[in-house]
Amino acid sequence: MRLRHKPWAKDKLQEYSNYVIQDPEAFRGNWGAAFEKSQPLHIEIGTGKGQFITGMAKANPDINYIGIELQESVIVSALDRLIDSDLPNCKLMNVNGAELAKYFKSGDIHRVYLNFSDPWPKTRHEKRRLTFKSFLEVYEAILVKNGEIHFKTDNQGLFEYSLVSFSHYGMLLKYVSLDLHNSEYEGNIMTEYEEKFSSRGSRIYRCEVQFIAE
Ligand code: SAM
Repeated sequence: MRLRHKPWAKDKLQEYSNYVIQDPEAFRGNWGAAFEKSQPLHIEIGTGKGQFITGMAKANPDINYIGIELQESVIVSALDRLIDSDLPNCKLMNVNGAELAKYFKSGDIHRVYLNFSDPWPKTRHEKRRLTFKSFLEVYEAILVKNGEIHFKTDNQGLFEYSLVSFSHYGMLLKYVSLDLHNSEYEGNIMTEYEEKFSSRGSRIYRCEVQFIAE
């Protein structure tokens, strides 16, 4: 994602503490307390400008959502969207997805969404891919038993790499689409990247994978 420096972003994220979780450690093991209603919690890692997470929260009021994004100059756009929509079941967190075990206990999360994650095509950058083994270990540590990851991308290389990574980890491949927009899948909520790439004719890949409890 191309970044425009926004020196005011940090202050704005702090100002809107009703939408941006300021002290995530405080909710570890008790995330229901961060929302109006205590209900299942789904997170998107690398939420970008927040179109997907706010769309999901609007469509599913009985689920709580958190959009997690590393870049404050990007997540501040998701904050604007959230302010406009004023959804009680959606929050944002400006943290690194690699560190989520600091903020969530086993069972805190019911589902992880990864959408159009940065592909990091060079082999020496493999560890940065959000579907690399060390990230899967973090997701497994915070999800409910038999929790799921739902993953979409336009990048065939990253998709194939991720299917292998999930499979080597021992996960169950529950659903795979090699052309989401020409499949029978219903209820798809588009991300910003999905709109951009599909409008240029790119194919969208999607899968649902599940951790298998021993
Ligand atoms: N999901 C959005 C979409 O589909 O439109 C944004 C996709 S963008 C290519 C990937 C986003 O993931 C970027 O905004 C980047 O800052 C964020 N990101 C990358 N690594 C991350 C990490 N370790 N933790 C949190 N966010 C991360």
